[in-house]
Amino acid sequence: ATPTAIMVGSGVGLNRGILFKSAAVLEGIAHLQAIGFDKTGTLTKGTPEVTDIIPYADYSRQNVLKIAVAGENPSIHPLAQAVVAEGKKELLEIQEVENYHEEAGYGVICSYEGQTLLIGNIKLMHKYKIDVNESERDFQRLAESGRTTSFIALGGQVIGLIALADVVKESTKEAIKRLHQLGLKTFMITGDNKKVATVVGEQVGIDEVIAEILPQDKISIIKKYQDQGFKVAMVGDGINDAPALAQADIGIAIGSGTDVAKETGDVVLVRNDLLDVERAIRLGRKTLLKIK
Ligand code: ADP
Ligand code: MG
Repeated sequence: ATPTAIMVGSGVGLNRGILFKSAAVLEGIAHLQAIGFDKTGTLTKGTPEVTDIIPYADYSRQNVLKIAVAGENPSIHPLAQAVVAEGKKELLEIQEVENYHEEAGYGVICSYEGQTLLIGNIKLMHKYKIDVNESERDFQRLAESGRTTSFIALGGQVIGLIALADVVKESTKEAIKRLHQLGLKTFMITGDNKKVATVVGEQVGIDEVIAEILPQDKISIIKKYQDQGFKVAMVGDGINDAPALAQADIGIAIGSGTDVAKETGDVVLVRNDLLDVERAIRLGRKTLLKIK
């Protein structure tokens, strides 16, 4: 490898806000065959907004929101922050909860006025044997429209659903298309619901959607591709994504993401533009041609 070609390549990258951590990365990125993306915050903007609140039993819409705000307030998850933001918009007071803890990939559990409060996905409801019969139809309808839905269960029964929508970033669809033109296979790995993930996958034209994956299992998806002989990159922004970024042949971190992701990544996209993924690969390929 000629050091000059590498230096020039890294320099061009830097000018475009594509940070290569080492010379080996610039060479390695040229050989990629498949590329995985985290959904929330990577393919999408990652700032969901509450779109629907559906109350059940004797609860009012505002009641459901107030209880959900109490349970989600301690959480830093984007879905939780969106619920709290909605509560603030409606000027609701934020109540305290007790015995709070978070279950990664499921949601939160705590006690609210002496009763157990669960907020999270349908897997969380199944895990705690909550009957979802009454809310199932609403849930399916919301999922089909691409909305992530949280179940709110208090004292063992579902008291409401809160649906949230996250929009796809402007450049995502074009970025995926350009990667296909370079001959790469693309896939999404997400902890979100299968239906919701499929809707987003169709919107952006990604090859494969792998959904309902727990944070600790994201790594095994990358391994599966590697076992099939693929050179794989993973693009992500969250703390959850760091192990998968480390497992991938090339980890690519979004500049607006968490520090953990940026420290783990081999490449950092400072401008948060997914089109820079394809630019980075082309730069690597050009550099390699000059080396040979
Ligand atoms: P992603 O892979 O999109 O980053 P996570 O692994 O963080 O997703 O979460 C997966 C799923 O777990 C979410 O889509 C949501 O259904 C549920 N979940 C996790 N934390 C929360 C929370 N604080 N409130 C509601 N739902 C949550
Ligand atoms: Mg994310």
